[in-house]
Amino acid sequence: MRYKNYIFDQGNVILNINPQLSLDAFSQILPDSAENSAPITAADLLGGAVGTIVGDFQVGRITTEHFIDKLLPSMRLGVTRKQLLDAWNALILDVPQQRRDALLRLRASGARTYMLSNTNDAHMERIYEKCFGGCRDNMLEYFDDLFLSNEMHLAKPDPEIFNELICRTGINPAESIFVDDLQKNLDTASALGFHTLLSTGDYWIHKLFENY
Ligand SMILES: [Mg+2]
Repeated sequence: MRYKNYIFDQGNVILNINPQLSLDAFSQILPDSAENSAPITAADLLGGAVGTIVGDFQVGRITTEHFIDKLLPSMRLGVTRKQLLDAWNALILDVPQQRRDALLRLRASGARTYMLSNTNDAHMERIYEKCFGGCRDNMLEYFDDLFLSNEMHLAKPDPEIFNELICRTGINPAESIFVDDLQKNLDTASALGFHTLLSTGDYWIHKLFENY
């Protein structure tokens, strides 16, 4: 293969997600007055800026239990913790076989594969359960290691999360490609010397293997 190291974003690159499913689920459990006076809207819940509840969850400053504690009072009376967690996780779909095969093919060729994801404890638990038989080790069949924002206390596009990955793996960015569906994340990687590929869905498979 052309590169020694392949670093992949998770959502929309490895894992299919549909944020609209979470927005729809939240609109069922938020108060009817959400658009006017509720402290939080469905859209807020998916836009996790630093310093917000969602932003804190993403960098592991709060646990899943704490996250639910903080959001539950904003929901309709009678909404359960499970309903809230299910709405939060509703966007998680599947990891298609062709992407699994492509990752295994990269590893079999001698390349190293890594995941670098902005995520949170609840989503990862659900992803392990729904896509990897409930076990992180099963996900590690496809990746040499997982670099997750909630465990690293850092998030893309902060250059520090990339520097931490470089430091822990010892990889040379010039021999590595980073694949993400968000240009702002690629911009940071590019500035640090990584090759980059903007990709949604299966595009990266075709692009990386076209001259193989
Ligand atoms: Mg993504």
